[in-house]
This record gives sequence, structure tokens and C-alpha cells, in this order.
Amino acid sequence: MTTKYDVLIIGAGMSGMAAGIRLAMFGKTVCIAEMHSLPGGLNSFYQRGSRKFDVGLHALTNFVKKGTKGHPLSKILKQLRIRYDSLQLKEQKSSKVQFRDLEINFSNDIELLISQVAKNFPEEVDGFLELIKNINIHKDLLPSKDFKSARQFVGQYIKNKMLEDMIFYPILFYGSSTEHDLDVNSFIILFQSVYLEGFSRPMGGVRTIIDILLDKFNALGGELRYRHKVEKIVTKNSKVQGALLNNGEMIEADYVISSIGYPETMSLVESQQVTTPAVGRISPIETIFIFDKKPAQCDIDSTIIYYSNQDRYNYQKPTTAIDETSTSICLPNNFSDCEYDEGVIRLTSLANFDLWDSFKSTEYKAQKQKVVEHSLETLKAVMPSLNGELKFQDVFTPKTIKRFTGHMAGAVYGSPDKLPDGLTGIENLLLCGTDQGLIGIVGTLLSGITISNMHILTRDWKG
Ligand SMILES: Cc1cc2nc3c(=O)[nH]c(=O)nc-3n(C[C@H](O)[C@H](O)[C@H](O)COP(=O)(O)OP(=O)(O)OC[C@H]3O[C@@H](n4cnc5c(N)ncnc54)[C@H](O)[C@@H]3O)c2cc1C
Repeated sequence: MTTKYDVLIIGAGMSGMAAGIRLAMFGKTVCIAEMHSLPGGLNSFYQRGSRKFDVGLHALTNFVKKGTKGHPLSKILKQLRIRYDSLQLKEQKSSKVQFRDLEINFSNDIELLISQVAKNFPEEVDGFLELIKNINIHKDLLPSKDFKSARQFVGQYIKNKMLEDMIFYPILFYGSSTEHDLDVNSFIILFQSVYLEGFSRPMGGVRTIIDILLDKFNALGGELRYRHKVEKIVTKNSKVQGALLNNGEMIEADYVISSIGYPETMSLVESQQVTTPAVGRISPIETIFIFDKKPAQCDIDSTIIYYSNQDRYNYQKPTTAIDETSTSICLPNNFSDCEYDEGVIRLTSLANFDLWDSFKSTEYKAQKQKVVEHSLETLKAVMPSLNGELKFQDVFTPKTIKRFTGHMAGAVYGSPDKLPDGLTGIENLLLCGTDQGLIGIVGTLLSGITISNMHILTRDWKG
């Protein structure tokens, strides 16, 4: 059986859904093929009993107040015609980067971070202000194809290596597919989104965003097919024809946009001449705890804590199953409002995919239990006042990420080889999402919009 659409999108993650909405809005016939029974991809949700959990959402970056124009979040809402109020955004209280006992706090007001640098690293504050001034110059920056070291850029302004690592921690952790460093353009984009704009959480979590996207896409007549895995991207004379699904159906399309990752996409192309992009090395492990007390009842007010038990931050694939030197701790109760009536704590650390993939069933379970014990130890060290009773625990590993999203090696930030223009080298096969180089929920939504606007809608867009 063959079906024909203007555009076939592979994957119903954030970028695939944004691309689908944008294209359907301008009259294109669009089909999204999603291998799972749920949308959201890396940013999804699940339920255990009556408890609902987010998978990929620590915080929505790029927070701006209602009515603020010209920022990534406002641009996305305008392009997708989503009302700001429908997201019901709740701002973070404040977050902190903590190396042993030294901490710097930050919030959605950059003045807090500046005052914390002045207090803890007085000799660095002028350089830090200069860094911010240079970052503020840049507007609408896109990821770059040629790697230029962000460490070198920041080193011109900040001399203290511990402060440098403290600034880099949330940025690397929320968006770098390369170890230790990242490209300067990506650094600037992420610095703006984390420190100059800030964090919020939609009331209801990631489901709120996904429901809005799904309603939009359906109302515009788009077709989303769950449990339809693309097995092969079919080409003829170096031009894409369509894709073959796991049910044997061939979908023909004028364009195929893939959101599943660069190496993952190229591995589906049947051709001798495709490139073989590198597979990413960065994959996380996450422990979720439910306590009978909310953190604020134990005098814990931070929203996210980026913790290292050393003076430096090791952003690299660990040689052991889990990196025991650093953990980021997300406390969703500590956004300005949250629907959870229990205390929810999520701890995320870097992990080694190859080891997790090699564990047989009994060893896998035992290793997960070790992670739970390590996470409880970390909580004791970082928040000694936490005294609630543990009601529930769950762990998802790099292997879970691979199984549920298809990302090779469970690499959340994709390949270090990015395609900023989305062009794969095969005519009419485009790439959007993580491996275009825009990361996170806001970044990947923007990616789906940008790729559709640049390569498909501008060609015959009468609007
Ligand atoms: C633990 C964790 C925490 C995170 N925290 C945050 C955060 O706090 N804030 C933030 O902004 N971002 C966060 N992120 C990152 C964010 O989730 C991602 O950057 C973003 O969701 C990626 O979207 P995407 O569209 O590029 O790709 P994906 O979400 O990977 O979507 C790709 C989709 O394609 C589907 N697919 C794969 N192969 C096939 C195939 N062959 N056929 C059909 N379908 C296929 C997959 O099932 C998936 O649904 C986090 C991610 C993780 C894992």
C-alpha cells in the first residue's frame, strides 16, 4: 500500500510536532510517523498508579514574562499561534550551583547571579559583567557548524577555573553533545536561555505543552500515526522518495523531515554514499523519589541544584556505570506553584551507556538499586534537612532512553556532528531537532519551525 503526503515527518517529539503544525498551518498535507504509542520523545511522561511523572522536563528554559517580544519563547508562541496563558508557566524560585560547600544562586533575575559572583569571587565580577555585555550583543544566533571553543571565549573574561566550571555546569548539562566544552554559539544561546531568561514549569508539567501541540496539529488536519516505525528512507537518484514503515506501507512525500537524530537518520537511508556521523557519548541516568513531605516543609527552597562533590565539574562519559562526582537535583514542588501534593525529587547524573547496555537482567537490577542508594546518599549530603518518608522510587537508565526514543547510545544531546542548516546532502531529506543543534524543549520547537520555514514554506509561501 502507498500513501502520498506533501511532507512526512519522522518522530513526534517537540521538533517533529512543531514542524507538523507549521506546515499544516500553510496547507501542506502532513503525516507524522511515531514509533511509540505516546508523543513527546525525549520529553515525555508516564504514570505509575495515580502518580504522573515527567521524563525530560526539569525546567522550561527561555522564560519571559507575558508580552515580551523578540525572544525564543515569544517567537515560538507566535509562529505556532499558541496563547502565552495556555502554558500556565510557573517561575522557578531560585536555583544554585554547589561545589562542595560553596554555592552560587541564580534566578530569573540576572542581578542575583551577579551579586553571588561579587560575593564569592569578588575579583571576577568585572569580567563576569563584561562577559554578560558581550553575550547580550548577540541576538537570534544559530548554532555553528565549525566548532569554536566556548571555554576559550569565557576564559577571556573569567580567570578562576572553579567559577568557570560553575557557570558552565547548567549549560553543559542542558545542552552539550561534546564533553567538557561546547561551541561558542551554542554556549551563548544557552547562557541567554538559562541565566538571562530563566526557568519555568508549565502547570501540569510537560503534558500541558504536548496536549496543546497535539490539539493544534489535529485541528489543522495533520495525521499522527502512533506505532508506525520508519524502517527505511527510500531514495532514487539521490532524491528522497518517501519511507517504508514497519507495517510494510510505503509513504511517499515531496519532503521527509527527520527528527530522530543525524546518525539515526542516515542509518535508515539505503545508499552507498551516506555520511556516518559520530554517535554522542553523553547519556544520563535519572532517579525519581516521592516523599510524603514537600521540600519546603523541610526548609529546602531551591528549584534546581547542580551539585558537584569536587571543585571542578566533570562533564564527560564516566568510566563507571554512573558518575559519582556530580548530580543535578530537580525539585518541581519549588516552582512558584505545582500540582504535586507530595514531595517529588529527581536526581540526574551522567552515565555510561555501554556498561548499562552490557548488564544482564540480574546485574541490571542490582546496578539500579546501587544508583538508588547513591542518590539517597547524595540527598543526605546536599539537603541534610530532608526528613520525609520515602513513598516511591524509580530509575531510568541510558538503556531506557535508547529503547523509548531510538537515540543511539541513549545520547540525549545527540551527535557532536550537527547540521545547523538541516540539509542532509540528500535532496528533500531534512533534519530538525536535537542534531540541528538547537537543544531543549524551546530549542527543538524552534528547530522544527525554522527548518519548515527555511526549506519548505519559503519556496511557495504566499502568506
Ligand atoms: C532526562 C532528560 C532531561 C531533560 N531535561 C530537559 C529540561 O529540563 N529542559 C529542556 O528544555 N529539555 C530537557 N531535555 C531535553 C529535551 O527533552 C530534548 O532536547 C527535546 O525533547 C528533543 O526533542 P527532539 O524533537 O529533537 O527529539 P526527540 O524527543 O528524540 O523525538 C524524536 C522522536 O522520534 C521517534 N522515533 C525515533 N526513531 C523513529 C523511527 N525510526 N520511526 C518513527 N519514530 C521514531 C522517537 O520515539 C521520538 O518520539 C531533557 C531530556 C532528558 C532525556
